[in-house]
Amino acid sequence: MKTVDLVVPCHNEEEVLPEFVRVTNEVTATLPSYSFRYIFINDGSKDNTLLTMIKLSQEFDNVKYISFSRNFGKEAAMYAGLEHSDADYVIVMDADLQHPPAMFPEMLKKIEEGHDCCALYRVARKGEGLLRTAFSKLFFKLQNSLSSVKLPYGATDFRVMSRQMVDAIVSMGEAQRFSKGIFSWIGFDTEWIPYENVERTIGKSSWNMLGLFRYAIDGITAFSVAPLKFITVAAGFLFGLSLLAALFVAIKAIVTGEIGSGFATIMCVMLFIGGVIELSIGILGEYLGRIYIETKQRPIYIVKTSNIEKKDKH
Ligand code: UDP
Ligand code: MG
Repeated sequence: MKTVDLVVPCHNEEEVLPEFVRVTNEVTATLPSYSFRYIFINDGSKDNTLLTMIKLSQEFDNVKYISFSRNFGKEAAMYAGLEHSDADYVIVMDADLQHPPAMFPEMLKKIEEGHDCCALYRVARKGEGLLRTAFSKLFFKLQNSLSSVKLPYGATDFRVMSRQMVDAIVSMGEAQRFSKGIFSWIGFDTEWIPYENVERTIGKSSWNMLGLFRYAIDGITAFSVAPLKFITVAAGFLFGLSLLAALFVAIKAIVTGEIGSGFATIMCVMLFIGGVIELSIGILGEYLGRIYIETKQRPIYIVKTSNIEKKDKH
């Protein structure tokens, strides 16, 4: 019998967890040729998520939990789950039932057909604001044009992966994790299938616009140095422009015999150059900050309590 670990990051999900397990159990009951196990990660929840997990683990033998000492973020939670998993296949999914377990049979079928991974992209965005949809479209556009890592629009983290692929992800120990990029960077063969996005019915999303914006910047800087190249291009452009301007002033002086004053022009040029310099320093700072954090080599997460042993590294 093949084993499947369900890695589920949870942040303030006490309300939805029992329902999540109920719905998921219904689906796993229809797949008797697999043995499923839950690995819940309590990512510093402020509510009784941990208590709910403990209760569930008393009710069901196959419920495991890892509880962090504080909120480390979904990326860290996913990493912890993958590091603790030892199953033949691992499914990563959200706790809020926005990633429907009903997709399991189709996903597992794909992996049995020999794909290393079957990942899902959403086709409808019900229950999301216009601004958010526009922002997320822009994010995928930017990400795909700036970085070598290509993602289909609507790509989610909901996926099933082979043991080999999970081991590859765990071997990537960077502290600032951008899973969508990591999944794609490690290679292997991923089959993308669509699913209908469902509204979150219980609890509320942990993301806000600022968080999503930071996430987008993280995504771009994690797998691309294109913004750094922009600085070089901007410098070249400004240098060319200044040569042209000097030529223009010289020719004008020779032809008309006057140099002329141009306070307004000077102000505009100075502000423009100043702006480009500030932006360039900002971009450098984004990368510098990331290098700084990365060199500290801090652990990605810290566990306070759990009922699962970390898998021995192969
Ligand atoms: N999550 C987490 N840590 C966080 C934020 C979110 O583990 O700091 C989990 C959350 O419990 C859920 C998943 O990540 O299982 C997706 O979060 P959410 O539903 O808030 O995001 P959205 O669906 O709006 O992208
Ligand atoms: Mg959600």
